[in-house]
Formats: sequence, structure tokens, C-alpha cells
Amino acid sequence: MSELLPLPASLPLDAIHWPVFDRAGISVTVLRLDAVDPVISGNKWFKLRHNLHQARAAGATSLISFGGAWSNHLHALAHAASLCDLPVRAYVRGELPEPLNPCLADCRAAGMALVPLDRASYRRRYDPGFLATLVGSDDGAFVIPEGGANEAGILGCSDICQYIPPGCFDQLVLACGTGTTMAGLLRQAREPVIGIQVLKGQAYLQAEVAGLLHKHGIEPVVNWHVEDGYHRGGYCRVDDALLEFCRDIETSSGVPLEPVYSGKLLMALCDMAAAGRFEPGSRLCVIHGGGLQGNRGFRIAG
Ligand SMILES: *Cc1c(COP(=O)(O)O)cnc(C)c1O
Repeated sequence: MSELLPLPASLPLDAIHWPVFDRAGISVTVLRLDAVDPVISGNKWFKLRHNLHQARAAGATSLISFGGAWSNHLHALAHAASLCDLPVRAYVRGELPEPLNPCLADCRAAGMALVPLDRASYRRRYDPGFLATLVGSDDGAFVIPEGGANEAGILGCSDICQYIPPGCFDQLVLACGTGTTMAGLLRQAREPVIGIQVLKGQAYLQAEVAGLLHKHGIEPVVNWHVEDGYHRGGYCRVDDALLEFCRDIETSSGVPLEPVYSGKLLMALCDMAAAGRFEPGSRLCVIHGGGLQGNRGFRIAG
């Protein structure tokens, strides 16, 4: 059987030129995980890779997962599942928008069955008894949690380190939702890692990542921490300044951003650089998590 989602030989590293970074004397380079596949984007590709290998090895006959109406994970999974010819059913939080938004329309076009789950039920999705009712009589179903946030997801994300050339960077920076990508990165990272939390909640993701490391026996050899002050009001909260910033970076450096993760991450770096948080001469590597399909949910004015 051919290898599913083979690791690419290399991924682009693109420099970001921006006055704040120049003034702080730091260089910022973006590792373009968004370039890993034309459709299965970014860190979700890395998280799904081992999940799909495990599903195949287990002889799974279908896949089941969960996500919101603009989920990068569901978008990636729909296409990955069609590559391995496995039927896939997604439980979508809340109601299905009518007509479907572009993200869910892509999912359905790729063959994903979309089942809405009211918010109260959605919160119980990992409750074993309730999950069993969702899986039903589908014995061969392989369940992947929302966001690909499981051990296979962590393992897959540790492969991201292969694309960071040794000795070229002093600091890795990435955006964090569940912290799965950060935990995976910390399995292999040779440079200190800063996570930028895109959800509201003081210090919660720091604890979450520490918990993941402990649970999976990962002992990082580098310093790491999560910044919790750059969510700009909370998950998916987007303002005009942020949208304008994303557009300006793309225009000036040719690196496309989306506002939910990579835009907030780079804006955070601007703040931190202006506040003197990085030694002059520091070479930063920013992990671009992909998810550019989500831009279709934001009208970038101008
Ligand atoms: C899902 C996602 C993240 C967050 O990854 P976690 O492993 O949940 O922390 C970051 N960036 C993009 C573009 C994503 O789609």
C-alpha cells in the first residue's frame, strides 16, 4: 500500500520584513506548513498523518470526528479521508449553516457526512457512554478528537522539527489552540519555544501543555512557555487592525496569513519585539500553522 501523506523533502522558509522587527534588530522567518499540501493544510496535515496510519493499521472502516463550522481540522480531514477511501462522519458544533459556508461545503463535496450536534451534546462528545451512542453500530469506526488533539497528533507534530534547519534559529514561535502542536514540537525541538495562546484564559494553556508533556512522557530539552495576553478578546475574535495587519504582511512579504492563528501570532511578535522582549540579533522561526481556507470567513476590507 502506498504511503499516505508522505513527508515532503523540505518546506519553504520565508523572511518577513517589517519595520518593528528591523528596529528591534531581530530576524523573523516563517516555516510554511501551509505549503505541505494544496488542500490538507498546515499543522492539521501533521496531526492527521499518524491518525490515518493508525486507522489503516487497525483496519478501520470509517472515521468519526468533531469540529466547529469553520474547523481547519474538519476541512483537512475531509480531504485526507477521501485520499484513503474511508467514509468520514463529522459532528459539527451547533447548527449547520444554511446554505453551508465554504468550509463545510468543501467538506461535503469531499464526501464528509455532516451531522449537527447541539452545543450541550457537543460538550459531552468524549463522554464514553454518549460517544458510544454517536458511534452506534459502526464497529470499524476510528474516532479522531476535535483538532486532531491526541497522541498520534502529537507524534505527527514532532516531525515539524525536521524542517527547522539546525543552528539557524534562536527561538521558535507558534500559535496555540489545544497545545497539541506545541507538545509535539517540544518532543524534538532544539531551540526554545514560545507559544502564543489564541484563546482567552489566564495561564490555562501553559498548564494544558505541561499536562500533555507529562501525560505523554515528553521531556523537552529546551525552555518553553505560553504567552496568554495576545488573544485580542478571545478565540476567533477579529478586529480591523488585525485584518489590515494580515493584509499588509502579505503585501510586503508575500506570506499569506489568516487572522485566527498566524495573524495574532505575528501581531504578538510585533508587540513583544517593540517591548524589547528579544535580544538584538535574535533569529526567530515562526511556525505557520496553515488554515488559510478560513480566510473565506472574513471579508478583508480594502
Ligand atoms: C488548529 C490550528 C492551530 C492550533 O493548533 P493546536 O495544536 O490546537 O494548538 C494553529 N494554527 C492553525 C492555522 C490551526 O489550524
